[in-house]
Amino acid sequence: MTSVSETPTAESAPPPAPGAEDYVALDFANSALALPGGHFIDLLGTPGAANRWLTEHGLAPADAGVQEMCAAQLRSLREHLRSLFAARVAGLPALPGALSAVNDALSKAPTAALLYWDEKNGPYRAAPCPTNEILDRALATLAADAADLLTGPDADRLTTCGSTPCNRYLLRHGRRHWCSTRCGDRARAARAYARRTQVT
Ligand SMILES: [Zn+2]
Repeated sequence: MTSVSETPTAESAPPPAPGAEDYVALDFANSALALPGGHFIDLLGTPGAANRWLTEHGLAPADAGVQEMCAAQLRSLREHLRSLFAARVAGLPALPGALSAVNDALSKAPTAALLYWDEKNGPYRAAPCPTNEILDRALATLAADAADLLTGPDADRLTTCGSTPCNRYLLRHGRRHWCSTRCGDRARAARAYARRTQVT
């Protein structure tokens, strides 16, 4: 059930989940959010939104000119990262496709600017295509950060938000396993409601 009057915007998104300030990959994985009432926000849903997200995370200039193809690549990497996070949380093997997608992104890290030869001015070095280079670097950075998270000491704290329908990942602090106070309040209210209806 989606009501038109309260169509959620990026502003309806809760603040970054615990751990997202340390791992940009965690915030990236959380850039598709399920909200109560069947609402869904995709912070990478359009090229403009994806460009904004990258800029806010220091991964691209505001005028990078992200195209739909690039936004789709970001969304695809996000799904693969979410699948790897889910596997880590559940203690299950990773999907081979997700692993190779992350490794593809990792190996996209641009090595060096290429050598060009201008007829008038002679040799110079430049990136083959600035927008591609920006995107490849962003994908590589996000993949590397996810790989660090999954193999580092914080991996055991990775968990999913325990408040349905929230789908965000977070790093657990103590017993708390909600991504935000909003989710914690909703989970407590749901528990209280369940208790009340059981009694009657
Ligand atoms: Zn949550």
